[in-house]
This record gives sequence, C-alpha cells and structure tokens, in this order.
Amino acid sequence: MALYKGCPGANIFKEVKPEYIECPYCHAEIEIWSDELLARCPSCRRIVARERGASCIDWCKYAEQCIGAQKYQQLVKERPNPAADSTPAKGAA
Ligand SMILES: [Zn+2]
Repeated sequence: MALYKGCPGANIFKEVKPEYIECPYCHAEIEIWSDELLARCPSCRRIVARERGASCIDWCKYAEQCIGAQKYQQLVKERPNPAADSTPAKGAA
C-alpha cells in the first residue's frame, strides 16, 4: 500500500477504540466504537447517534483514500443527514 498514513484526524477511524456515551432516552451508558456513528442502547434498545459533528471525512478530499473506500462509504451512509428525509426506520424498532 501507499506510504501515506493519513492525517491525525483519521486515527479515530483507523485506530478504533471504545468510547462511552449516555443514552439520551434512558441515560444508560452505551459503548460506541470511535469509528461508529450509531450504537444501540443495551438498555432501551434504541439507536443512538453520536454527537460528533463534522469530522475530517466531511471536508477532506483525501478522506476516501485515507480511511479506505469501504469505511468511507459506510460512514457517509451512516452519517445523519438532515437533508435526507427518506429514513425508513421512522417509528419502527
Ligand atoms: Zn437507552
């Protein structure tokens, strides 16, 4: 592979580690991996989105090469997009 190792901001996607967020619904502790944007609450079973805001994949034109196309596509797909109003899971779960 290339020698380019990517920027420090991409390490959260490449050197994944567990983080903990609080469930906004039941306030249980949810383990979420640093490369994941969504996690399921072990307590109330809801899907909780991480409050990360924009990350380097949002603006860096090398992001796809940096973290890998597969990962990039996954993150783009999971990323909450206010403009997209076609969420099929509305009211489900
Ligand atoms: Zn919960």
